Amino acid sequence: MEMITNDKIKEIKDSVDIVNIIGSYLPLTPKGKNFFGVCPFHDDHTPSMSVSKDKQIYTCFVCHETGNVFNFIMKYENVSFLEAVKKVADISKISLDINVNTKQVSKDNNLYEIYELSNKFYKNNINTKLGLEAKDYLNKRSINEDIIKEFEIGLSLKDNKMLTKLLINKYKEEELLKSGLVNKNSNGLNDTFYNRIMFPLYNLYGQVVGFSGRIYNSTDTSKYINSKESEIFKKGELLYNYHRAKDEARKLNKIIITEGFMDVIRLYSVGIYNVVAAMGTAFTKNHALLIRRMAKDVILMFDGDEAGEKATISCSNELIKIGVTPKIVRLENNLDPDEYILKYGKDAIINKLENPINIMDYKLSILKKQKDLTKEQDLALYTNQMLDEISKIDDEILRELTLKKLSSETGLDIELLRSKIVTEEKKEVTIQTKKVNLSKYQKAEKNLIFYMLKYEDAIKQYQKKITYMPTLEYRYLARDISMFYNEHGYIEISDLFNEINDENLIKILGDIESLDLSDEYNPIEIDDYIRVIKDYNVNFEIERLKKEMANTTDPLLKASIGSKIVELKKSMEE
Ligand SMILES: [Zn+2]
Repeated sequence: MEMITNDKIKEIKDSVDIVNIIGSYLPLTPKGKNFFGVCPFHDDHTPSMSVSKDKQIYTCFVCHETGNVFNFIMKYENVSFLEAVKKVADISKISLDINVNTKQVSKDNNLYEIYELSNKFYKNNINTKLGLEAKDYLNKRSINEDIIKEFEIGLSLKDNKMLTKLLINKYKEEELLKSGLVNKNSNGLNDTFYNRIMFPLYNLYGQVVGFSGRIYNSTDTSKYINSKESEIFKKGELLYNYHRAKDEARKLNKIIITEGFMDVIRLYSVGIYNVVAAMGTAFTKNHALLIRRMAKDVILMFDGDEAGEKATISCSNELIKIGVTPKIVRLENNLDPDEYILKYGKDAIINKLENPINIMDYKLSILKKQKDLTKEQDLALYTNQMLDEISKIDDEILRELTLKKLSSETGLDIELLRSKIVTEEKKEVTIQTKKVNLSKYQKAEKNLIFYMLKYEDAIKQYQKKITYMPTLEYRYLARDISMFYNEHGYIEISDLFNEINDENLIKILGDIESLDLSDEYNPIEIDDYIRVIKDYNVNFEIERLKKEMANTTDPLLKASIGSKIVELKKSMEE
């Protein structure tokens, strides 16, 4: 792989405006000199991320995520620095002759390889004579050749030793067992999946990390068998089809969530691409955060049965917790989206998706079930449950509309109902960011770095006079700034971010950058900070010497240490 020079990286960075780039991921509103948006990196309901056009950096005041345009893309898309650089270069049509490997390289490399190889094996099987019956089965269910190819649908064979034989020459038994594709019993090693149609399951980058195997010509009791969780397959962190759906979802600002991967495939086959599914597990906060990164409009279209109803509720609760207000599509006759499309066709499902109900109307209808609202007790319970639900959502208009509905349904005064709502804003007893009592010298270190980020003269002053900063992180940052300046002859935080690899240091730098200090450069003030830091170092040394003196009985040594201390004390008065 070719090296990219720092100059090239700077050229790429400067070719875009961070406001436009971040603005393409999340809505930004101008406020004063900066732009603000809801931070995608923590559970956020209010715009706590600021994006600075002047400085070309972003900073979250709550979780302290910060950096330049590359840092944002790295974090948001889970990609490496080089991939982020490549993405920005592509946007600006700057040609960059590097081969960015988008695959994850990690210690579990062999697991990825084992899955990739197995996937090839299964895919090949379905195209052989042995796969005719499976293909026939798929075709009858309107899964055509294009879909088989796109979703890499394959086949495990009746002979339950085939895959094992293939893999055992290349990998250790231990690794194969860890992959879950091979298991061991009294017959030795066997394939876990056999005689099933195989659907690969992907991670967020599109790598195969698991399989779901479906029966097609037998009457096995379990219709589907899924891979067990492994180091690379964690269901709570993955969404099926994320890697294919995310671009379309961002473009349309709409994402559809279904329960099963077959629903995703079926919707894809009728031209609906912005769909993901949780992989046979409860919807987690991780899932919700992934969803929020893709689109604002979120539609839940789960199975039409009772389990689907429960899943709809718990999924929407996870989403509401992070400020997403989903819409709901419910399907009649207990059908899942796959069955629904097979039965009623493409137009019917599109019509459904175009007319979702809002989550509050859905909750009204669910909570009303099995209650007799003519009975006072039921009415009170229903009202309180609904007020609780209303208080959880961020969408003020929806809150108000639902209050109106509740009022007319229950005959209770809307003002009374409104007064019962405890919204997040009311609950939020201004979370005071814990002001750590910084010692004098730490404050001096931070302030000095603040000015070094802005003024070359401050860097020069530091280089001339400082010994070293007592706090390790600040020492590293001062060193990085100093080195950056020596190498490039200027200082700019957004470029400096390119050269700091430590996430913790980046955060600290971001914090310092957003300190509320005067923008003016005052050399006397800088000298003052430097003096505080020096004094600290000298005092530290004096304390050390005092201890040393106390620990020695040698009168000569005592005297010599004593005179050193006097000298040091004198140096502080200069
Ligand atoms: Zn944040």
